[in-house]
Amino acid sequence: LTPAEVAELRAAFPYFSLPAREDGRTVAYLDAAATSQRPGAVLDAERTFLETANSAVHRGTSGAVGAATAAFEGARAAVAEFVGAGSPDQIVWAENATDALNLVALGIGEANAGLGVEGSDRYLLGAGDEILVTEAEHHANLIPWQRLATKTGATFRYIPVRPDGTWTIDDARAAITPRTRIVAFAHVSNVTGYVAPVAEVVELAGAVGAVTVLDACQSVPHIPVDFAALGVDFAAFSGHKMLGPNGIGVLYGRPEALAALPPARTGGSAITRVTMEAAEFMPPPLRFEPGTQPVSQVVGLGAAIAFSRTVGMERAAAREHELVERLVEGITATPGLRLLGPADPAQRVALAAVSVDGLHAHDVGQFLDEQGILVRVGHHCAQPLHRALGITSSTRASVHLTTTEDEIDRFLDALRGAQRYFGVEVAA
Ligand code: PMP
Repeated sequence: LTPAEVAELRAAFPYFSLPAREDGRTVAYLDAAATSQRPGAVLDAERTFLETANSAVHRGTSGAVGAATAAFEGARAAVAEFVGAGSPDQIVWAENATDALNLVALGIGEANAGLGVEGSDRYLLGAGDEILVTEAEHHANLIPWQRLATKTGATFRYIPVRPDGTWTIDDARAAITPRTRIVAFAHVSNVTGYVAPVAEVVELAGAVGAVTVLDACQSVPHIPVDFAALGVDFAAFSGHKMLGPNGIGVLYGRPEALAALPPARTGGSAITRVTMEAAEFMPPPLRFEPGTQPVSQVVGLGAAIAFSRTVGMERAAAREHELVERLVEGITATPGLRLLGPADPAQRVALAAVSVDGLHAHDVGQFLDEQGILVRVGHHCAQPLHRALGITSSTRASVHLTTTEDEIDRFLDALRGAQRYFGVEVAA
């Protein structure tokens, strides 16, 4: 993307047209990994839907319901195409990625509690069976699996990270055993930005008949993703990190994987027949979507995908890669900054977290905030990873297709400014 194209893109986002703060500084938004800003087209799509076509979907026979249902299902088809799902039926609406990951873990729990559907045997876990995650997981892809292990008596295991916070296919090979039943891991780490060798892990997992669950929260917004090509059974991501609305997330599933998964939540509109004794459920995806759906959010997510397509994910990924290179080079060139994750920018996507020697991340964050630089400080919902790296918190800058070189430079300058301000001694 040329500077003119980036400027044009930024102009499409109301947030980036905000006036400067009272101190004359404009805000450098470097926190897209937490949540992205929305283009006007996404905000307009939600508003227009609510103003002109709002109604519950999949209920009743009126024309209005038909139009809303068409918009709702059209967005599902758009998501399916965007992530390489062969059919819209492989796309389940959830609240966010956290919810989508829980749908899988809780659903497997239901199968193990005797509440299975046809084919759920594949999800039965017993003593000696193993659930495998990595030490780098976001809590959303960690705690649900810990609890599933406790519920079922399965053994909870993890692939430990190396000193830079990454893990390799050899580490995965060493951890996968004939008893591995589930392998859950992030496509891109939200702390190190490290890109996992997904297809290779899927192959190892497949060889022992294990189910694979991919946390794709930090990949889908930034790089072209094709879940069918990667071969994962399940994948989860959030609308609000990919230019879309809050309150909408996606669970992708291979047809056979979804068909055998029991619903973790039940209620109206997900059923075929209910008696006073029992219920029969619809096939996926509606089986997993009881209750009144978040229709305007779904419509907004459809608009976010349309917007991303106008840029093209290949181009967006190439542009963001340039920005990440600049970020990583700046961090590694500055004494007293410790880069978390791979030193080679080719191994990472969209973000970089640092630990500033001698400073707590919250002090760094406060200093950056005063400079108008918005980043994320803390453990980023990855406490075990930080513990493995010997720290409790870090400062993370994340980029998106609207980020500018100037914003990256302001961040790097401000880190050096924080070192000076707090009087940190750095070896030259
Ligand atoms: N996994 C990863 C890697 C993430 O970065 C996040 C968001 N920080 C989540 C899961 C959870 O996403 P959400 O809060 O939208 O459910």
